[in-house]
Order: sequence, then structure tokens, then C-alpha cells
Amino acid sequence: MINLTEKDAGLAVLEGLTSNVKQIQDAVLKEILTCDANTEYLRSFLHGSSDKELFKKNVPIGTYEDFKPYIERVANGEPSEIISGKPIIGFMLTSGTSGGKQKLIPLNNKYLENARLLFDLRYLVLSTHVDGHNEGKGMQLIFLKPASKTPSGLPASYATTYFMKSDYYVKNLPSYWDTSSTSPSGIKLCPDNKQSLYCHLLCGLVMRDEVTRVCANFASILVQGITFLENFWREMCSNIRSGQLSDWITDLSCKDSVSMILGGPNPRLAYLIEDICDQKSWKGIIPQLWPKTKFIECIVTGQMAQHVPILEFYANDLPLVSPNYASSEAMFGVNLDPLCKPQDVSYTFMPNMSYFEFLPVGEGNDTIVDLANVKLDRYYELVVTNYAGLHRYRVGDVLQVTGFYNSAPQFRFVRRQNVVLSVYLEATTEEDLLEAVTRATQLLKPSGLMLRDFTCYPHISEAPGHYVLYWELKGNNDDGIKELDSNMLVECCSVVEESLDALYRRYRSKEGSIGALEIRIVQQGTFDSLMEYFIAQGASLAQYKTPRCLKSPEALQVLENRVLACFFSDKLPPC
Ligand code: AMP
Repeated sequence: MINLTEKDAGLAVLEGLTSNVKQIQDAVLKEILTCDANTEYLRSFLHGSSDKELFKKNVPIGTYEDFKPYIERVANGEPSEIISGKPIIGFMLTSGTSGGKQKLIPLNNKYLENARLLFDLRYLVLSTHVDGHNEGKGMQLIFLKPASKTPSGLPASYATTYFMKSDYYVKNLPSYWDTSSTSPSGIKLCPDNKQSLYCHLLCGLVMRDEVTRVCANFASILVQGITFLENFWREMCSNIRSGQLSDWITDLSCKDSVSMILGGPNPRLAYLIEDICDQKSWKGIIPQLWPKTKFIECIVTGQMAQHVPILEFYANDLPLVSPNYASSEAMFGVNLDPLCKPQDVSYTFMPNMSYFEFLPVGEGNDTIVDLANVKLDRYYELVVTNYAGLHRYRVGDVLQVTGFYNSAPQFRFVRRQNVVLSVYLEATTEEDLLEAVTRATQLLKPSGLMLRDFTCYPHISEAPGHYVLYWELKGNNDDGIKELDSNMLVECCSVVEESLDALYRRYRSKEGSIGALEIRIVQQGTFDSLMEYFIAQGASLAQYKTPRCLKSPEALQVLENRVLACFFSDKLPPC
């Protein structure tokens, strides 16, 4: 572990890791192959060998489906050794919203050790960029879910929950960290997300003068938090005024935590907060409510990029820090330039976390390369061999090399590989869609409107099929949206179409194989309802990301019930 009180020692560790990528990666692979050589999975390809060349030649590149039968056998009570040399102590649940179905990923202590190292590196990096980064408190919108049990009795939960409840997090925390959150752990552990969010925000308001950072795992959670505050600030102020928590907060650990923080009646603070919240526009509300905030910390890349404009609206000029890139399968990298603009964020891979390989994307050449051999500007799909039995596992993320820190490659997160929209023979990636929608939303600006969230759906039950985008709009001030300008929204449809790739435009304009793109405007709050729907299905709030493309009829129904108006593109895009 890096001792944060000794910054120079920490920086030396970072320099060592990033300067010896090839040696460290070779050692990591050797360690994993030696440990896993006798597992049923590896034995079938390597016959007990731990040789790198043989590994490259014989072990296939796989997806979750290839490992699932082994993972399920362990979940059902067979010994860990069928897949992993290290004991499996539980399973992580993936968010299930970023790339299809929820998965079970084997967990061992090495994962938690790596998570702690990434956590320490994050804070080390912040300490070199933000003066007094460790002063005051963080208002952290963090939600930990109780674990369920597999048939064999092993726990299954979310990565954040495991980590934050483990000794790797709880023990040897940097001293400032113990008391550094405005929310006591009772609030983070509350199983009811609404009660938990209410209490997080209420505690944050009560301690507003101490808050120096506002944090969540993902940008979408912070936007959701501020939207929630827009609906509940009056009630929270009444709680602060009377010193009494609302009756509907029934969770005992929430009640106890908040009562201690509320203390007694505080009419002066209630008045102050009401005065700030009771204004037409919530532009810059974060620094107004929490005036000592130095930065906002949450992931703003990939699917989260679409939340950046709203977050910037609430945050004014506060830096948005996108700290790291990680998944339930492995830790990947850290953002070494935390104060850079959201669009410039890259993550520097840490070579000791797992063994990383890269499949070139879109080059007609599928020779897989090692971390030490990736080339500047190229696009790759990430393949990981971790310490818990996943060998040459396709994570499903596409990354672009943007530079190197010492010899450690830095990557921009481009998109998830498998999220595409297609109604004919074209293939629209998540990145294409995000770019097209971002261009179209420029047209909303003069009317003081912003896109709160969106998703899409390939409408193929009628021919020709067409793209349906569901948009939830939000005004710059709280009057709500009085009327929709149909010319503007029809134009938005056209701009999305013009911005899609050449194949889409050809099928749409020349061949008529794709119908006019449609935007369905949904009521405010619809995407919160969609999230509630997914959470009721077992997704975790802490890891939730709006699916960029919806296919489940039940989820679509949540949107369909809230459609206010539909608009279609009225012209053919240029080929
Ligand atoms: P999960 O395993 O459910 O936590 O989801 C992991 C996935 O979330 C990754 O494979 C990425 O697709 C996405 N993700 C995690 N961190 C980032 C990041 N910093 N930027 C963009 N996407 C991310």
C-alpha cells in the first residue's frame, strides 16, 4: 500500500510502476499462470505449463459466455480450483446496464488489494494537483447494497460494496479519510436508495461549510442527486428548521445517523439554504450551496459524457475530476491529470493490476498486442487476464491510445464494443450516437433547454425500420417546459441523421432502407423512473448507467407511458 502521508514515497512507487511496464506485465502473467496452471480451465489449454508463448498460442480469447459455466459451477458449490488457483471468496455483480445482462465475476483478495492501490493512487495524484485536497469533508453520494448468497453460500454483491466494507478500505485509511464524509456509514448502508439519497443530501446541507468536494461514482448519480434536491429542498429545510427528520425516513441507521448530525432546530441555516434554492435558475447551485467546494469527483467519460453539460451547468467553473477506470473484472488505470477538461480525460494503465492485451479495432488485422506494444492514436478492444480465473477475457470496452506516461500507455475511453444500434445493415456505435445527439442538442441552447438524458430503440417492427430516440429535456430555470418548438425538434432529428455515418445516410437516403429518425420527448422524471425500474430488477444504484439502447419491452413501456410528443426528420441526409 502507498502511504499517503509520505507523498514522495508514493510518487516513487508511481514512477516505478509506469517506467517498467513490460517487466511488470511479464511478471504478472507468470504469477497468474503459475497460480492457475492446475485449474480445470487452463489445464485444458496449457497442460500445466505457465509458459507465456504457449499461453499466447493456445489460450483462446473469450467472452463472459465462455467462463460462465465454470463460474456457475463454483457458485453452485464446486471448488474454486476449477477456474482459479486463488480461493474465490465471493462474486461481484456487474451493473448489468452497461453491456446487457448482469454477470457474476469471481472475487478474491487480490482484487480488493488492487482496488486499494488504485484508491491510494487516486488520492496521491489529487494531492499533487489540488491544494488542501484533504481538508474538510466530501459529500459522497455512495450506496452500498446488502450481499445476496449464491447456492453454495458465497456472497454476491457489487464491487464498491465489497471494497468499502473490506479491511482493505476500512483499515489503514489515510487519517483524514475516517471523518472526511458528511454521510456516516449508516446512510451509505441503507438498502432503500431514496431514503439514503435524502439523508446524504440533508447531511451535506447541514455541514455545507465543511464540504470541500462533492463525489459519486458516476456523473449520472450526481445529476440525479441534484435533480432530487430540486424536488426535496423545501422538505429538507423544514427538517433543518425543526431539527426533526421527516417521518418517511424509517430506516433506523439513517435515522440515527441524521439525528446526530441535525442536532437541534437551526432556523438560521434553513433560511439561508431556502434563500439559495428558491431561485429560478439552478445554474451554479453546487458552489452556492457548498461554497468551499474545490472540485467535483465522478466518472465523466464514456456513457457519462452526456451528463457533463448539465453537471457543468450546476457546477459553474468547478473542475470535474474523472478519477479512474475500473470494472468488476479488474482495475485498469488512473487519470494522472485530474484537473483536465472532461473531453481530454485519459487513464494511465497500471501494469501491476492484471495482465492486459489489446485487440486492434477496425484495421482488418486482428493480431493481439501487449500493453507495452500499443501504438499512439490506435483503437483497441481491451482483453484482460486477471488474478481470479478470467484468462484473455474481452471486457467489451474500446479504448484509444492518447499518450504515454513514462512507458505506461494512456487511453481515452471510446465506447463499449457491443452497444450498437442497427435497423438495417448499418451499425451505429454508442460513440456515433453520442456525437450525433451532442451536435443536435446545440440547437436546443437558444431556447434555454438542455438534454437531461436519452436512450434509443431500433424500431424494426415496421419496414423500413427507423431509429427512435427518447429525450428528456430540462429548462435552464425551474418553470418547467412550457411548450415544445416543433420546428426545432424536427431539425434536431435531421441533424442527428446528418451526423450519423456514411452507411446510415446511404441506406436512409439512396436506398430507402431506413425510415425517418424519430425523437420522442418524454416527461421530466422519466429517466429516474427508468432507473428505478432497473434497480427493482436488481441493478445497483452505485453502478447504474442509463442503457444507451433499450430492447426490453418492459423497460420501453416505462418510457412509452411518459411520451409527450413525437417528431420526425423531414428531410433526407446528404450522402
Ligand atoms: P461494472 O463492472 O458494472 O462496474 O462496469 C464496468 C464498466 O463500466 C467498464 O467496463 C466500462 O464500460 C464502464 N466504466 C468504468 N469506468 C469507466 C470510466 N472511467 N469511463 C468510462 N466508462 C467506464
